[in-house]
Amino acid sequence: MVPTVIISARGEQRLRGGHPWIYRADIGDVSAQAGDLVSVRNVKGRMLGSALYSDRSQIAIRMLTSGEKPADDSLIASRIEAAIGFRESLGIDATAYRLVHGEADLLPSLVVDRYGDYLVVQALSQGMDRLVPVVVRTLTERLNPKGILARNDPRARTLDGLPQTVEVLSGEVPETVTATECGIEYEVDLRHGQKTGLFLDQRENREAAARYGRGRVLDCFSYNGGFALKLASAAQETIAFDISEEAVARVRANAERNGLRVDARVGNVFDELRGLDRLKERFDTIVLDPPAFAKTKSAVEKAITGYKEINLRALKLLNPGGILVTCSCSYNISEGTFAQILHEAALDASTHVTVVEKRMQGRDHPVLLGVPETYYLKCFILRKLG
Ligand code: SAH
Repeated sequence: MVPTVIISARGEQRLRGGHPWIYRADIGDVSAQAGDLVSVRNVKGRMLGSALYSDRSQIAIRMLTSGEKPADDSLIASRIEAAIGFRESLGIDATAYRLVHGEADLLPSLVVDRYGDYLVVQALSQGMDRLVPVVVRTLTERLNPKGILARNDPRARTLDGLPQTVEVLSGEVPETVTATECGIEYEVDLRHGQKTGLFLDQRENREAAARYGRGRVLDCFSYNGGFALKLASAAQETIAFDISEEAVARVRANAERNGLRVDARVGNVFDELRGLDRLKERFDTIVLDPPAFAKTKSAVEKAITGYKEINLRALKLLNPGGILVTCSCSYNISEGTFAQILHEAALDASTHVTVVEKRMQGRDHPVLLGVPETYYLKCFILRKLG
């Protein structure tokens, strides 16, 4: 017997809207085990498609196919192949980029990032966790990597009752690897770095920022220096702040490796922006790339206050004609809400700003229309008028 899950009429309607997730509240009879590949049927018994089943998460079903189309190992392999083929077609000027972006590659809860000869895999649901051997086999046949690492330590896995682990799945993975991105070389710690090592989703925004960056540059929430390093060569002076000592040490090491001058400092951006204003420091280019302030819906109000605060402070620190590159990676803060926050920050800073560019996550992190969760990173490039 093929494992089967019956879903409610409301669940069926959601599927018709193109969304691959069915919540626990919308499922009925289940004859399946944790992580099974299941047939999804409506209450009348009609086959709606094949999916990954979770017996824990609020997201009980993640669709892989619709109608009678079966989901098997070859489907997973061909979707991985399609995802890789698309990335190869993009002409990305980097050795590190995302190969598979979950739902947007029709491979729900699977992430694969490439760092040159090494690959990092994240399987964030029970069903995808079981498919890891197929994923590894496909990646090995297609790319022949020197090593594949599972960075299965995101907290999301605990929602599915899965352990948080980091392990080598094939070959060997050194303590650190090097990656180049648009002319900058980074040393990357795939096991302990944030995300899978680098914030790959910002690559194109770093390139965009470099089109405007000049004069005195301030990179806030710098991590290991993504924006600062890209902007440093055209800047008179570049200051970078991060709260993590480890991140700041990496900015310094990366600056040296690339022969660039970056004054990297440990500090809490909220305090540092205030301190810089007290000292009457002024900048021509400021980057704000904070962590997601609104990880949940309930955190939205507080997050809005946080975003407004840093944007208001940054606008005050900018010289007239200066550029603010400001980001939000909170899915729970929509583009519209973010624009409103920026407008209010400008009003409070008694200035006018124009939107020079409105950007998002890089093309290797595509957005699937109808699945708002896949659009999480907003990046506005603003110009302060007076
Ligand atoms: N701009 C980076 C990515 C930033 S990720 C890039 O391009 O790669 C967010 C960073 O903010 C993390 O490195 C985290 O350590 C740092 N951070 C979080 N809260 C902070 C705070 N209050 N002040 C300074 N840095 C903070």
